[in-house]
Amino acid sequence: MLDASLFGADFSRRDFMKAITAVTAVMGLPATMIPKVAAAAESDNRPPVIWLHFQECTGCSESLLRSSHPGLGNLLLDVINLEYHETLMVGSGEQAEKALHDAIVAHKGKYILVCEGAVPLAENGIYCQVGGTKAVDSLRVAADGAFAVISMGTCASLGGVQAAAPNPTGAVSVSSLVEDRPLINLPGCPPSPYNLIATILYFLTMGKLPEMDAENRPLFAYGRRIHEHCERRPHFDAGRFAKDFGDEGHALGYCLYELGCKGPATYANCSTLRFNDNVAWPVSIGHPCVGCTERLVFNTSIFDKVDIIDPTSPAWFPPTKVTPSGKPVSAISALGVGAIAGAALGFAAGKGSTLPKE
Ligand code: SF4
Repeated sequence: MLDASLFGADFSRRDFMKAITAVTAVMGLPATMIPKVAAAAESDNRPPVIWLHFQECTGCSESLLRSSHPGLGNLLLDVINLEYHETLMVGSGEQAEKALHDAIVAHKGKYILVCEGAVPLAENGIYCQVGGTKAVDSLRVAADGAFAVISMGTCASLGGVQAAAPNPTGAVSVSSLVEDRPLINLPGCPPSPYNLIATILYFLTMGKLPEMDAENRPLFAYGRRIHEHCERRPHFDAGRFAKDFGDEGHALGYCLYELGCKGPATYANCSTLRFNDNVAWPVSIGHPCVGCTERLVFNTSIFDKVDIIDPTSPAWFPPTKVTPSGKPVSAISALGVGAIAGAALGFAAGKGSTLPKE
């Protein structure tokens, strides 16, 4: 079994509660649920997890493990009982094969199977083998004994780059091969590690799997398009677009739709959760969203434009204006201006109401 000492750093009670608070917010649960989520995370009832790798780059595991502070990785290894993970475990060869076999037998019907990568079926599945066993056979045996299967990342969920035309290895998603088991897809290249931990903690806290969409994606993470919460959205609404990489609009932070941003057709929480310890995400640093949580990714040119489903912004968006100097007002500054203006108006109104009567 792999434990939190892997991360080589102390995980204080404060770190634990910070991570629990963040994951509770990701699940869309109110703050009053934080103690319940914390209790579920601390319970002795840690679900066994077997984590298999197929055709992939290990970026999904890396996104979880390479956070600059250890909170998420520690929390995951505190919450689950990670029985087998080819990248993290010390054992190799026959020792590792035995560990996998023993974990499947010992926890039959009770473990969560997490899969990273697509599975090749061409030429009888010979293109991906571990210890002489084909990926498709490893998956069948491991999924057969699993309580539930989580497809981690776009390759396992949707086939990913391996399944893109011309698909020489006949790669398919893990999800398309799993039958008769609860299945959760967490696409993304890489997926947010918060979404994995939130999915497991949701199950431990509520005793059921989260509500999912038609692609078996948890609605709390994939229920909205990133276009709805993008910091460049006021520019989209005002018709201010970057036309080329490095042009003035690009430098000013304008909307990236004309450069092929797939945000209007991509369901994910990247624009609110972000990556690198919640600091940045592709659009925030000037790269259009490629739609990596959708089937369109790897089958659509990066510069192709997607259809706009809702051309107008929700009523609760701040008004989009241009300052007298011609400089755009961002969503945040517009909110700030609105708040200041509102406060000033309120102050004036308040003042007016206390004026002595003639
Ligand atoms: Fe943001 Fe892309 Fe939508 Fe523009 S098109 S607002 S950059 S998500």
